Amino acid sequence: MSSIRERIAGLNPRQQEAVRFIDGPCLVLAGAGSGKTSVITTKIAYLVLECGMSARRIAAVTFTNKAAREMKERVQSMLPGKSGHGLTVSTFHTLGLNIIRAELKTLGLRPGFSLFDPEDAKALLRDLMNKDAQVDADQINKVQGIISQWKNDLVLPGQALSHAETEDDAYAARVYEHYVRHLKAYNAVDFDDLIMLPATLFERHPEVLAKWRRRIHYMLVDEYQDTNSSQYQLVRMLMAERETFTVVGDDDQSIYAWRGARPENLVQLGEDFPRLNVIKLEQNYRSTSIILNAANTLIANNPHVYEKALWSDKGRGDSIRVIVNRNEEAEAERVASEILTRRIKESAQWRDFAVLYRGNFQARILELKLQHYQIPYKLSGGTSFFSRNEIKDAMAYLRLLINPADDNAFLRIVNVPRREIGPTTLEKLANYASGRGVSLFDACHEMGLQEVLAERAIDRLGRFAHFIDRVRKRMDQNEAMPGIRQMFLEMDYEAWLFQNASSPVVAEKRMANVWTLLDQLEKSMAREDEEADETDDVEAAISRLVLRDILDQQAQEDDTDKVQLLTMHASKGLEFPHVYVMGLEEDLLPHRNAIDAGDIEEERRLAYVGITRARQTLTLTLARQRKAYGEMLNCTPSRFLDELPQEDLDWEGRPDKEDPEKKRERGTSAIAGLRSLLG
Ligand code: ATP
Ligand code: MG
Repeated sequence: MSSIRERIAGLNPRQQEAVRFIDGPCLVLAGAGSGKTSVITTKIAYLVLECGMSARRIAAVTFTNKAAREMKERVQSMLPGKSGHGLTVSTFHTLGLNIIRAELKTLGLRPGFSLFDPEDAKALLRDLMNKDAQVDADQINKVQGIISQWKNDLVLPGQALSHAETEDDAYAARVYEHYVRHLKAYNAVDFDDLIMLPATLFERHPEVLAKWRRRIHYMLVDEYQDTNSSQYQLVRMLMAERETFTVVGDDDQSIYAWRGARPENLVQLGEDFPRLNVIKLEQNYRSTSIILNAANTLIANNPHVYEKALWSDKGRGDSIRVIVNRNEEAEAERVASEILTRRIKESAQWRDFAVLYRGNFQARILELKLQHYQIPYKLSGGTSFFSRNEIKDAMAYLRLLINPADDNAFLRIVNVPRREIGPTTLEKLANYASGRGVSLFDACHEMGLQEVLAERAIDRLGRFAHFIDRVRKRMDQNEAMPGIRQMFLEMDYEAWLFQNASSPVVAEKRMANVWTLLDQLEKSMAREDEEADETDDVEAAISRLVLRDILDQQAQEDDTDKVQLLTMHASKGLEFPHVYVMGLEEDLLPHRNAIDAGDIEEERRLAYVGITRARQTLTLTLARQRKAYGEMLNCTPSRFLDELPQEDLDWEGRPDKEDPEKKRERGTSAIAGLRSLLG
């Protein structure tokens, strides 16, 4: 371990300035691979080791679990002994969850509240919206999107209603109001609440804000360009007095506008904090000049607030290869065989390779090819651990244990394994419960059920409720983990898996997944130094698991030697020696929706993020034909390929390059032809 001083000495002068500047607000604005994240990690160590700040007083936030974990590892390696104790390095949402957990009472929540994932939230919205009239999935999605945006902008239901300009908005605002009331009744919060609740709490309760200001003295934010309004408000309020924070970002890498991210926050920061020290970094330490130049040339097509001139001294490096394939299968086959041969040629490891794509669906065919060649790989996101059925069941049990008012969890598992509780019984139970204003679980205990349900049905519901109650009692007596494990054995979940799986091997694997989940839970409870002021009870551990689930994180942290498969969105902040970007075609990258909406800039930034992950080699692939919606479609090469420096591209199977003038002519004549056809 090199000392912190040596570490700082290894940075360039501008980076050093960013690390050493601690007396006011600091913004590091710089392109990809210029060492922004390195500044954050070094600065945390500097604050602790050189400025004598307690690690407990420092909070660093970023956007994905993976990024938070990597940052934490880097920092811990610089902080000897217990000096890193109590340091918060987490996602924004985990920080929010911790604040909520500490301020339950003021927020009007009860212990053991549930965290609704987007599916749960959707189910609740569906119920609420269907009360008035039958609505379809599109309408529900739309309202869910609007509500999410309101929450990200800290707009409360009353404000949403009074500002509504269209009937649609007014309708959404009314649903929003019901939705919030119901969440409260269920003792639940949704994903957006994790930021909105702390931010509005701080606004309304200065004494709570004051407490958190005493707790957090210095904040560092990575990937700042992707903060949304509520996240920005959270940082702003916490830091308003001391003005001690460092945020780093790159406006060219803002790729979450669709989730409410506001790159304008970069500008806003300067207005809110006039003392802001803006530091720009210009050397890229990641990529060869050819790769960096390609990225710079591409992004120059977007309008810019700040001009950046990145350079690299890593040498020119190899040309960027562009491989055109017959179809998507040939494309996947090609990538797999490339990795196979290149690994030997470069004597590289599997983990040195990353394959990036626009959407998870592109990974499926690639997975098959990788399996065929026996190439070990790790798929991030997509079909994650948490999206498996057995894990969803197990999570529902856990959620019900900590919050019996969680009706969604109840409904998922009341008949899993089979307890012969049918839909009619459940419907009657639900009617009864909503009439009495109690949860489904509580309703199972009520005498009044006799008026609506047959003896046998009541008996079965009662047995289920009693079963859950017993486990809850053990949890109260400090026997949480044995109680939970016993629960799965007692209900013979394994037998149920065997009945329902396609083969015994599959069933065994599924049961093993459940035990893995419980091991994770236990580990999470045992973890001592993670979040400073938190007592690690089973409730906290379960809500962290649910959050991890939402953040789409694989349960097994897997650092073995594997090829990484991930979406460009998920690749933010990471780097790999050899990068393959698949599907450089119109309608895929840029995506069809973006083309239709006339918003190509965000897609270009996404391509920029993908390209700038590469250190030594970059390979871009595309297919001439691709199956979509059950049809074979002809694909056009992405316009982004035209925007790259052509002299640095090494094409293979280049489609006949058409003279742009001729193309335009053909276009107009086609339109003219069509017109004449239509008369
Ligand atoms: P991104 O925008 O993609 O998140 P970044 O600006 O956060 O990139 P880092 O990930 O911090 O960049 O750094 C990129 C690479 O450069 C890393 O491998 C890092 O270790 C290395 N690096 C950063 N600063 C220096 C330096 N002064 N000398 C040598 N290497 C450096
Ligand atoms: Mg970074």
